[in-house]
Amino acid sequence: MQLTPEHEQIRDTVRRWVAQEVNPHVDAWEAEEIFPAHQVFGQMGRLGLLGLNKPVEDGGLGLDYSYAAVLAEAIADIDCGGIPMAIGVQTDMCTPALAQRGSAELRAEFLAPAIRGERVGCIGVSEVGGGSDVAAIRTTARRDGGDYVINGGKMWITNGTQADFCCLLANTSDGPVHRNKSLIIVPMKARGISVARKIRKIGMDSSDTAQLYFDDVRVPLRHCIGEEGMGFIYQMEQFQSERLWGALNATAMAQRAIDQTIDYTRGRQVFGRPLLDNQWVHFRLAELQADVAAVRALAWQGVEMVVRGEDATRVATMAKLKVGRLVREVADGCLQFWGGMGYVMESPVSRFFRDGRLTSIGAGADEVMLQVLCKFMGIFPKNA
Ligand SMILES: Cc1cc2nc3c(=O)[nH]c(=O)nc-3n(C[C@H](O)[C@H](O)[C@H](O)COP(=O)(O)OP(=O)(O)OC[C@H]3O[C@@H](n4cnc5c(N)ncnc54)[C@H](O)[C@@H]3O)c2cc1C
Repeated sequence: MQLTPEHEQIRDTVRRWVAQEVNPHVDAWEAEEIFPAHQVFGQMGRLGLLGLNKPVEDGGLGLDYSYAAVLAEAIADIDCGGIPMAIGVQTDMCTPALAQRGSAELRAEFLAPAIRGERVGCIGVSEVGGGSDVAAIRTTARRDGGDYVINGGKMWITNGTQADFCCLLANTSDGPVHRNKSLIIVPMKARGISVARKIRKIGMDSSDTAQLYFDDVRVPLRHCIGEEGMGFIYQMEQFQSERLWGALNATAMAQRAIDQTIDYTRGRQVFGRPLLDNQWVHFRLAELQADVAAVRALAWQGVEMVVRGEDATRVATMAKLKVGRLVREVADGCLQFWGGMGYVMESPVSRFFRDGRLTSIGAGADEVMLQVLCKFMGIFPKNA
């Protein structure tokens, strides 16, 4: 895809903002296991970064998806994976369905302030008993007068301790599992919501991950996004944005790890010469570089399809699968060349090793990507 000076302008704006306002604080936020989402998103909102491809009438810039793709890559400049992931939740995981199918009233109340960075969002799909198998979720939203009454729980919710609203997937009827779900915007201050715990993890430290409970939580029926009963389908569409975002961001993170490893091994003297000058080291880095370029090209193929208005699910699924595997390979391969320094918590490569591992699990595990691909290929067994 031909990127324009306007794309580069966005990349530069992000780079400057990250260097001045984010990276100086990352180590402290990682240690605190939370970052101030309202502060960071407020800055992004003022720079216009949270609504690049969102409708102008909601306060977005109305640009095509390629600009959002540039943002997904550029925020890999942040010195950790947790903050980019939290930003991705806001821009590409909990707001696409709302932007595309939410009523004007719902968009004014939740999308416009999310674009301004005044409200933090989260996406509530996974549950204790249903992560990969989204159709198996148990949370219910039953009609009662003019409200839904929500009961159940959500697990692994990024931004969950600080969010102002949740884009929640719940069962609104007892019908067939792909036709009985709805996406509902739930204000997190509603009575009956409790944040049961903030989950400690092996990586993504500065991103808060919560377990949430919903106990007779009342939300007006008008908070349903689009048509009731279409939530599973809308969420599958929303996963396309989430997975493409993951592929773009994670390839950029992998690229950064390779670049940092080149710098480190160039400066590190071993047996009287730079470590990088050993053929095994520079050949290995070149091989990884070629793999990153290949997966990035696949992700950008998906971006071009979205810009053309085509369904990019198949390509986004392939890119998400390949980037998950590649991040593991790049992280392990690069860490090796940092020696003992790669094994300490503070080194950038060890943070990438820990943060990047999530890529093969979150937003649908590798095996779920394979399952989706098999369906596209017509080789998924009918009785499975
Ligand atoms: C840090 C973090 C942040 C997250 N953020 C969010 C969020 O904001 N919102 C949200 O809704 N969810 C979120 N998730 C949840 C995430 O999407 C799920 O963890 C993921 O979908 C896997 O579901 P599970 O953990 O229930 O694993 P399971 O469904 O129990 O699967 C376990 C493993 O089984 C394997 N597997 C699954 N299906 C198959 C199959 N058909 N064939 C063979 N093997 C299979 C895979 O290897 C998978 O990893 C987050 C998770 C983490 C760890």
